[in-house]
Parts: sequence; structure tokens; C-alpha cells
Amino acid sequence: MTASRIDAILAAAAQRLNALGDGRREARQLWEAAGPRRFLDHADDHVSREDRFEDFVKLRLARVPMSHIRGYRDFWKHRFVVTSDVLDPRPDTETLVDAALKVPFETVWDLGTGSGCILLSVLADRPSATGVGIDVSGKALAVAKINADALSLTDRVVWHQGDLFAQMTGPVDLIVSNPPYIAADEMPGLAPELSHEPRVALTDEADGLSFYRRIAAQAAAYLAPQGRVLVEIGSTQGPTVASLFRDAGFTQVAILPDFDGRDRVVQAKRG
Ligand code: GLN
Repeated sequence: MTASRIDAILAAAAQRLNALGDGRREARQLWEAAGPRRFLDHADDHVSREDRFEDFVKLRLARVPMSHIRGYRDFWKHRFVVTSDVLDPRPDTETLVDAALKVPFETVWDLGTGSGCILLSVLADRPSATGVGIDVSGKALAVAKINADALSLTDRVVWHQGDLFAQMTGPVDLIVSNPPYIAADEMPGLAPELSHEPRVALTDEADGLSFYRRIAAQAAAYLAPQGRVLVEIGSTQGPTVASLFRDAGFTQVAILPDFDGRDRVVQAKRG
């Protein structure tokens, strides 16, 4: 295919994709995804790149997340396999990784690990550390295992299917979590892409704070002395979540901003 033919295909698609924001970027990424791929096996090799691209454009117009079409998301320093079984890693969550790497720890648990993006990112940057990735979803853990393999971290991580601390035995130096924190009544107003992500990873089906209440109440029993908890929060939840940890006896409770200046992480130290 000539370069000018590709340009024409991309320009036409960009027009259609402008409804999503940056149509040119969307078109470029979909064209790349329609080419030979490393991450997804596809049985449709007889399909031309142009036809596959058209299929992808239609999927995007139906608001299927870009990460599901491409099969991956770049997060922190690595590329993570992403499917509809896990939360699509968000750039905001890199704030939690950044904060975790500023505190001392040799052992870390990630409550609700999903794709494993938080746990694997911190383990990769802290080569002496080991971790446990916990999730209620066996399907999510299967994705996390693939990601651990790809990053050669399998030897330093254990996967555990369970609900928060159930069947866990401490002590652990650091607990990280990006729990489902969207309130049930906020769900209908969210971007259409989120309907393709696991609902259980997004909302607690209540006021958005249930997991913080449970983590604040239980974490101290599993933490080493001087151990810390770092949780991602919604941008309006900082003061409430900080109070939950303070009321549970944690010290040095701090609300940390993300790279856009919005409250994004609450950090607390076992008192
Ligand atoms: N830990 C994963 C992430 O931050 C999944 C979180 C979740 O499913 N709520 O992307």
C-alpha cells in the first residue's frame, strides 16, 4: 500500500473518530494495532490490515476502550496486557506507584491487583522486594500472571485469590490498593468506555468508601511496626479517607496529589 493511500485511510478515519477527542491519534493507534501484533494471537491473519483497521474503528466508535483493542496499556515504565477482565490501568494510578517507591519496604501486598500494574511496577523498581497480589477475580489474576511473566517477576510475586485480607498472614511492610471507589449512583454518568470494564473493579455498589473503611479497620493487624498503607482515592475523597485512617489509629496520614494537582493517594503509617 502506498504512503498516500495510508494517509487517506487515516484521514478519513480520523474524521469519524473526532467524536472521541483526538481523532488523528486514535486513528494512528488503531492502524498500528491492525498491523502485525506481538501481544494478541489472532486467527484472522487472512484479513487485510485495512479491513482489520475498519473493524477496530467501528469498535472504538462503539466505545470499546483502546486498551482492549490493542490488548495492552503502557503504565509507569512497562507495557501491561489488559483484557475486559481487569481495570484498564490509569495514568492517575502512577501517583500511587511513585509514592510507594518513596517509602521503605521489602514486602508488599496489593489489594485488588487487577492487571497487577501497581504491584509489578513497584517490584520492578525495588529489586530486593517480594509481593502478594490479591484479587477476588481468578480471571484478573490470570492476566496479572501473564504480566508478571512478561516482566520476569514471577519469582518475586505470589498471587492469592481472596477478598482483601481473607486468609492472609502478616506482617507486611507495605499495603497498596486502588480499590473500587466509584459510588453506585455515579456509575450511570461515567464515560461509555467504562461499561466495558469489570463493574466489580469500579464500584463498591455503595457510597464509594466501603473498601477504605474495611482497609482502615483491618490493615494494622497485618502491618509490621512502622508499616504503611497507600490507597488510591477519588479526587473528592481525600479528607474523608484520611479521617478513616486517623480514627483507626494511623499516624503521619497524608493526602498526596496526582500529576494534575488533584487529590489521588492517601498515605498512612501504623501508629
Ligand atoms: N490495581 C489495579 C489498578 O490499579 C486494579 C484496581 C481495581 O480493579 N480496582 O489498575
